[in-house]
Amino acid sequence: MSEAIKKRIAVFGSTGSIGTQALEVIEAHPDLFEVEILTAQTNDKLLIEQALKFNPNAVVIADESRYEKVKLALESTDVKVFGGENALDEVADFDTYDMMLAAIVGFAGLKPTLRAIENGKAIALANKETLVVAGDLVMQLAVEKRVPIIPVDSEHSAIFQCLVGETRNRIEKIILTASGGPFLGKKPNFLVNVKRDHALQHPNWKMGAKITIDSATLMNKGLEMIEAKWLFNLTPEQIEVVIHPQSIIHSMVQFEDGSIKAQMGLPDMKLPIQYALAFPQRVANNNPRPNFKKIPILSFEPPDVKTFRNLSLAEMALEKGGNFPCILNAANEIAVWAFLNNRIGFLDITAVIEKTLQKINYIEKPNLTDYFESDGEARNFAASLIRM
Ligand code: NAD
Ligand code: MG
Repeated sequence: MSEAIKKRIAVFGSTGSIGTQALEVIEAHPDLFEVEILTAQTNDKLLIEQALKFNPNAVVIADESRYEKVKLALESTDVKVFGGENALDEVADFDTYDMMLAAIVGFAGLKPTLRAIENGKAIALANKETLVVAGDLVMQLAVEKRVPIIPVDSEHSAIFQCLVGETRNRIEKIILTASGGPFLGKKPNFLVNVKRDHALQHPNWKMGAKITIDSATLMNKGLEMIEAKWLFNLTPEQIEVVIHPQSIIHSMVQFEDGSIKAQMGLPDMKLPIQYALAFPQRVANNNPRPNFKKIPILSFEPPDVKTFRNLSLAEMALEKGGNFPCILNAANEIAVWAFLNNRIGFLDITAVIEKTLQKINYIEKPNLTDYFESDGEARNFAASLIRM
């Protein structure tokens, strides 16, 4: 057999939880993948280490003040070094990569991802905020450019895997599973005193700080409902959330004949990352496997939306559409940041989002400029609530 051509991967957000695990996947399969681009916001030390190890064509340190340090450290290599946020767009325009792994966290991931799609690059999408904010524009551009968007988020990867071979079959509904996070079963009188370090202890997954807080508030599941709407072209009624504390079933698809497919595995992001990078191939690996004899129970319960009101707010944004999900996302990013910096309490996160949704003008059919403006306005307003 002739040697397969390696897929050249641009890892945007390479120093994060998804980024570092993606590099482990790439390292384990040097016959399939090579690293073309690495980008980071502030972690220059790890970016330099990664660059020396993977020898990419280019790296970006988005925090410009760290550019000189990275440049100096990579002086003796032929790695091109860029600094500043605009450089993310610049390298997204390179024609030397095949697939972007979009693993920047938050709204900041939107622009470079759009650039990659514009350039016809396949996308392995971890950055759910991209679809939450501008799912209509992103998916429309992807169709126009014939670009596949392969989900990395474990629930969406599960659904995507369940849909392989089902192209002609209508989805009746999808069932998104949620672990429930560290505060499953807790009530507001407990949550009011919760501190960041407790909220950062997720029972099943080790992830970046922002998504870990989102999992504790159930906002993560709300964002995932909106993400699912765009990825799989669903109506809000077709998207159901169920709490499944063991995180073995990563999500399910119910078809018109009542048959339900589920995708299962241990909670380990390396599997959905690998699946997205190698799709449509399944690639052998040595990751641990579940032993069902040692998993006594798989349980399910409805989410407590009265306590975890972020999920209701996200459902409302999903229903209303327009710029509402964008406003929801921006307010949430500010509120989570404030909570992580001990500026507001756990329940205040919901209050900030709710007030911001009430304040910022609704736009039914926003264009990209509208999304950027709504994001900015929502951030400013949410921040003004926190300073009071
Ligand atoms: P993280 O905080 O661990 O890493 C974020 C990465 O983005 C880092 O490399 C950081 O340098 C970079 N970054 C942050 N802000 C930036 C900015 N303003 N400009 C440029 N780069 C910036 O986050 P994570 O947990 O790896 O999550 C990344 C994305 O994947 C998120 O959208 C998250 O919702 C999604 N996701 C993560 C997991 C997980 O297990 N961690 C699971 C599902 C989905
Ligand atoms: Mg998820």
